[in-house]
This record gives sequence, structure tokens and C-alpha cells, in this order.
Amino acid sequence: MVASDLDRTLIYSAPALGLTMPDAEAPRLLCVETYEHKPLSYMTETAAGLLAELAGRTTFVPTTTRTAEQYRRIHLPGPAPEFAICANGGRLLVHGEPDPDWQRTVAERLASQCAPLDEVRAHLVRTADPAWLLKERVAEDLFAYLVVERPLLPGTWVRDLTGWAGERGWTVSLQGRKIYAVPGPLTKSAAVAEVARRTGASVVLAAGDSLLDADLLLAADRGWRPGHGELADSGWHAPHVTALDERGVAAGEEITRAFLRAAADPGDGRTPAPGAAAVGG
Ligand SMILES: [Mg+2]
Repeated sequence: MVASDLDRTLIYSAPALGLTMPDAEAPRLLCVETYEHKPLSYMTETAAGLLAELAGRTTFVPTTTRTAEQYRRIHLPGPAPEFAICANGGRLLVHGEPDPDWQRTVAERLASQCAPLDEVRAHLVRTADPAWLLKERVAEDLFAYLVVERPLLPGTWVRDLTGWAGERGWTVSLQGRKIYAVPGPLTKSAAVAEVARRTGASVVLAAGDSLLDADLLLAADRGWRPGHGELADSGWHAPHVTALDERGVAAGEEITRAFLRAAADPGDGRTPAPGAAAVGG
């Protein structure tokens, strides 16, 4: 099975495309998301073709920090995924509908293992400076995020927040204009393990670009990360995770190509099961 982050891993907004070639040589792009009647996210046409092929041959599981509502705006090529992971693992969509059993399991874990959302949210609201704060939001009653004016945001504020949150069992991630505060036990990897359990998949391939993808990559048999993003910037690495040089939408294309190649050769995985053609799950 293939579990991949979406934003800045497979799909890219215009500012994140990172097109560096002459305009005449730029790849053709497919718009996969509109927001308020305007195009928002893209992949290269080549990546779109590869992803459609991949989704036809494996259990492809979109694995995102987006809320279910934000996820539903995205229309990826290929068959509609049977499973999708939203809210950083807090929501498991099965045929597009949230799974109540998983929701309950997650709620129980969070209640017993980290500080409550209200406490973290109050801290964010109290310490954020209106000079750079654009929006303050809660996602699915699970975690909080801020939209900020990045050039005005002091780096020390994020560092202080990371320390404060860490003492309370929460994780902080800075991605573009968004600062996420997420409960430590709310992970993509826990939800991926649940999907693997339900499908019987024995090999998991993964990709992601941010700190919130680190656990997903670590738990996978093989992983890929783009040349941009929090993981690349912090020099994060793991033996079974390939650090790509490509940046922007070109990295997204390379990741879909790597998934297909690895799915065609499951024996290449870190823990190959005997005779495992099980990448298909
Ligand atoms: Mg991402």
C-alpha cells in the first residue's frame, strides 16, 4: 500500500511549484483543486498519469493533515481511494465517509496522553501577535493552526512554542504560512497502521515533506521526501528514506515515479515478506 502526504508532496499551490526552468520548457500542469472558484493546487500532467496508474495497481491512501472538508476539494486522478487519512490521522475516510470506530479510538488516546486542545489554543491566542497573525483555526476539534504573515513572524516565537508544546505532549510544525500545533499521539502513522491492518497490506511505501510526516516515513518500509520542506531544511534523514534532490512540483512527479517503480518490485522493500506481491494490499 502507498500512503502519501498531499500538500507540497504530491500537489502544489502556485507559490510552491518551484518552476525554475525557462517558461517555454515548463511542464504542463493539471489543476486538482479549486478554492473559492479559483484554481489552487496542481501536479504535472506526467505525475497525474503516473498517479492514476499507481492508484489502479496499489491501495493508494492519501494521508494529509487537511480536514476532511479541505480534502474533499481535491480531485486526484485515478479511481477514488477506498481509504483516505485526514486531520493528521484523526479522521479515517472509508469510501469518503468518516469511520466512527477510528474516531473513538483516537479520542480515547488523546484524552489520556496529552494536554487538552483548549489549553493549547488559549496559549496560541494569548501569545500570537496581531502584527503577523492572519487567522486562528481549530481543525476537526483535534488540533489548532495559525495562518501567519511569514516575513513578519519571529523565528524565536516558533521555537518557544515548540518548547512549550513539547512539555504538554504536543508537536509544532511550520509549513508555508501555517503553524500547526498537533497532539503528539495524533499521527499519520497510527492511522496508516489501522488501514494496513484492515487491508492486510504487508509493505507500506510513504512520502512526505514536513515534520508531521516524519513518523509516517519512519513507520513505512520505504519512503521518499522532496528536496524542499521542513524535513529537507532540518537535514532529517533515515536509512530507508530517499532524500530527493528535486524541489517543488518536479519532486511530486519524481515521488509518483519512485512509488510505481517500488510497487512493481516489492522485494526491494526494507522488510520484504516471502513472495509478497502485497504492495497491492
Ligand atoms: Mg506536506
